[in-house]
Amino acid sequence: MSRAWLKAALDCLAQEAARSADTHLLRLDLPAFPGVRFYFKDEAAHPTGSLKHRLARSLYLYALCNGRLREGQGVIDASSGSTAISEAWFARLLGLRFLAVMPACTAPAKVRLLRGLGAECVLVPAGVDAEAVARQRAESEGLCYLDQFGLAERATDWRGNNNIAESIVAQMAREPDPESAWIVCGAGTGGTSATIGRYLRYRRLDTRVCVAEPTGGAFAEGWRRRDGEARASRPTLIEGIGRLRVEPGFLFDVVDEVIEVDDGDSIAAAWWLEQALGRRYGGSSGTNLVACLRLAAGMRERGERGSIVSLLCDHGERYGETLFNADWLAARGIALPDHHRRLADRLAA
Ligand SMILES: *Cc1c(COP(=O)(O)O)cnc(C)c1O
Repeated sequence: MSRAWLKAALDCLAQEAARSADTHLLRLDLPAFPGVRFYFKDEAAHPTGSLKHRLARSLYLYALCNGRLREGQGVIDASSGSTAISEAWFARLLGLRFLAVMPACTAPAKVRLLRGLGAECVLVPAGVDAEAVARQRAESEGLCYLDQFGLAERATDWRGNNNIAESIVAQMAREPDPESAWIVCGAGTGGTSATIGRYLRYRRLDTRVCVAEPTGGAFAEGWRRRDGEARASRPTLIEGIGRLRVEPGFLFDVVDEVIEVDDGDSIAAAWWLEQALGRRYGGSSGTNLVACLRLAAGMRERGERGSIVSLLCDHGERYGETLFNADWLAARGIALPDHHRRLADRLAA
């Protein structure tokens, strides 16, 4: 088979990467923690608005270089969230048909957004396993299954190639504490924590990795017991993280700490981030912030100085009707004023 189409597709991805700038590392000073510098990597700045832009680019590259994605083939994945948006965007760039398998209850605005990007939305009833549907349709229709959960951990080149960890380490190089004490991130596919954990070891750095997890999530439970069969003990309102089961990309051995955060605290922190940074970010960015504050409190207690780096995972515009709507929150039993108060206490000296 001719390699002409493959070469053109790889050129197309390389051109997109060259056109794209790296994301900013924003500094945040919190007076209550005089010895600790905070940095947040703004992954909302990607063209598709979240850190899944990196994952989607990697998944296409991985499929192409493994000979799994060929000329004229369509692409499918199970996702209703940020991944589907990024994958649909890249499919359009590459001129490929893209199908997103998602629960029928997915917000209509998201379905419209995906259709606007040219995606076909395959809605499956509640209780039906979207991943199984995607895999089965890929087999029966000859589509390429991108498999975000199955491949996230290996599709990214963890030794470098401008992965998120390499970018953070390079951006920290001129800071007063370039070798940060912690990097804090969430776990959805597990790809981000796996890449960061591996890269830090590869570079012989002492920086530790902390996963910020919604209380009762499967990563937290599985990490504590090193148990791949662990299940979440409760669902979460925070999109992108807090999985119900241990995903194949959850690499417990490269994660040094897991901090569980209540949904209400994550949401209050997302509201606070909007004030502090002048832009809205999603709930998982709030989860990260709360975990950063707990680590910083520990450092303050022990008299340690240093830096903590975390991520702003996606932009908050999509959550106007949900996480940023007090009525929606009240209907779900979230008493926001209580959580604002708790956050204010954490931010106090
Ligand atoms: C996917 C996602 C995460 C977690 O990243 P992974 O690399 O998949 O573990 C966090 N926040 C948001 C908004 C996400 O979409």
